[in-house]
Amino acid sequence: MFYKTSSKDNVELAQYFFKKLYGKSCIYKQVVSQPYCENCKKFLPDCYVKGTCPYCGATEQYSDSCEKCGRIFQSGEIQDPHCAICGSKPTSKQSQHYFFKLRDFSGKLEKWLVENKNLQQEVKNYVLN
Ligand SMILES: [Zn+2]
Ligand SMILES: [Zn+2]
Repeated sequence: MFYKTSSKDNVELAQYFFKKLYGKSCIYKQVVSQPYCENCKKFLPDCYVKGTCPYCGATEQYSDSCEKCGRIFQSGEIQDPHCAICGSKPTSKQSQHYFFKLRDFSGKLEKWLVENKNLQQEVKNYVLN
């Protein structure tokens, strides 16, 4: 059977699971603040924010790490952050995210993963990580 993600059945099924899980509080809402570009009217993931490395001063580095000195940045650590698309300074905007309590299921998932004979060991190791 083949379904398009947007097909009516699929949407209904997804909503059904979501409501089931949400009702059991396996899914929770949390407000997180993320860089937002007013000019592009979009939230900017790490790869859309560039700036200056606070350690070595290299410019045009992505906001998660410096390619020049190899340091990993904590969020907000990069200097002079700007939108990689348009160059304007991003603001911080709050958005609501849904989180799935994966930890509640990690025991079951781990068991399933380890005992699964159809998966390669490298795949298992990656997922276990
Ligand atoms: Zn650097
Ligand atoms: Zn922008």
